[in-house]
Amino acid sequence: MTKLDLDVAIVGAGFAGLFALHRVRNLGLMVRVFEAAHGIGGTWYWNRYPGARCDVESLEYSYHFSPELQQDWEWTERYASQPEILRYLNHVADRFCLRPDIQLNTRINSAYLDGPSRHWVLHTATGDRITARWLIMATGCLSRPYRPHLPGLDEFTGELYHTGEWPHETVNFAGKCVGIIGTGSSGIQCIPPIAQQADQLFVFQRSAAYTVPAHNGPLDPELQRRVKAEYPAFRARCNAQFAAINTDASNVSALEVGPEERRRVYDERWARGGLPFTGAHLTALLAASASVWTRLTIQHSIGLTSRSSICMPSQLRPSHRLA
Ligand SMILES: Cc1cc2nc3c(=O)[nH]c(=O)nc-3n(C[C@H](O)[C@H](O)[C@H](O)COP(=O)(O)OP(=O)(O)OC[C@H]3O[C@@H](n4cnc5c(N)ncnc54)[C@H](O)[C@@H]3O)c2cc1C
Repeated sequence: MTKLDLDVAIVGAGFAGLFALHRVRNLGLMVRVFEAAHGIGGTWYWNRYPGARCDVESLEYSYHFSPELQQDWEWTERYASQPEILRYLNHVADRFCLRPDIQLNTRINSAYLDGPSRHWVLHTATGDRITARWLIMATGCLSRPYRPHLPGLDEFTGELYHTGEWPHETVNFAGKCVGIIGTGSSGIQCIPPIAQQADQLFVFQRSAAYTVPAHNGPLDPELQRRVKAEYPAFRARCNAQFAAINTDASNVSALEVGPEERRRVYDERWARGGLPFTGAHLTALLAASASVWTRLTIQHSIGLTSRSSICMPSQLRPSHRLA
């Protein structure tokens, strides 16, 4: 049998690839990570746009394979910013000596399972060939930037940025006229900081999404201390919930309670901010009662004008319920 280069080849050095490397190496297997970027971090390496941060709370959006790491790392904000998460991942790479087994600047262009030998054959963009017994594709769910086919885009002579491939140097929007296409999570995160700088800002929105205020801010040290004091139990509680997020989801249907109770629950969740809003009542009903409530609250908080009404979520298609 041909001698294999590796037991395990891993593609991608984001959260998943780094953890896979740590686990596989501890099994005593020969492993290497191949990463297209110049640095580790995956999502958090590429998405450097202003305002980028997680929308699952920092105390949850972190590894739990190492109790020591969990105790030592101090998050500074309720929802960590991109630079802080990238620092965290670099800290993990150093702490667990992962770097020697990570090959940066290496895009894997093809991978196939060789029939007779049953081993994987990978080819890099520069033509190198790697063989491995097992292959782990830790390439992420969002790692390929989407560029819409807009007629004329190629001839656009202004500055053009994509949130998923943001430059490393600071982009200064002061005095500029900026257009942002898209109001998914990235659009929603970068609009406020860019609006603060730009002379004029136009947002192009195809489909509106409901957006709940995050109420981000410095992480309460007392909360961090309490969670750390019982981290395994906290993780277990999260894991038992939908998407492993601590939403304190209620299993009471929005239609089982009266309008006052519904309002109380939604107000309370809105004030708390972030994803726990989705756990207010059975999510199947969010499109119905919560959307009406959200609409009323937005109207109330922005002071609805006839012009702004055209942007209200009443025009949502059913697939855009809440974000
Ligand atoms: C702004 C933002 C906020 C987010 N917030 C949250 C959150 O709060 N909670 C949550 O759960 N998720 C969130 N996500 C989703 C996030 O992508 C995941 O949480 C997580 O970081 C994915 O990690 P990963 O290792 O699976 O993939 P990635 O981090 O995407 O890493 C994949 C890596 O694979 C590399 N790669 C891909 N193809 C190849 C190839 N052919 N050859 C070599 N290398 C390759 C890429 O360069 C990339 O570095 C957020 C995403 C963004 C963009």
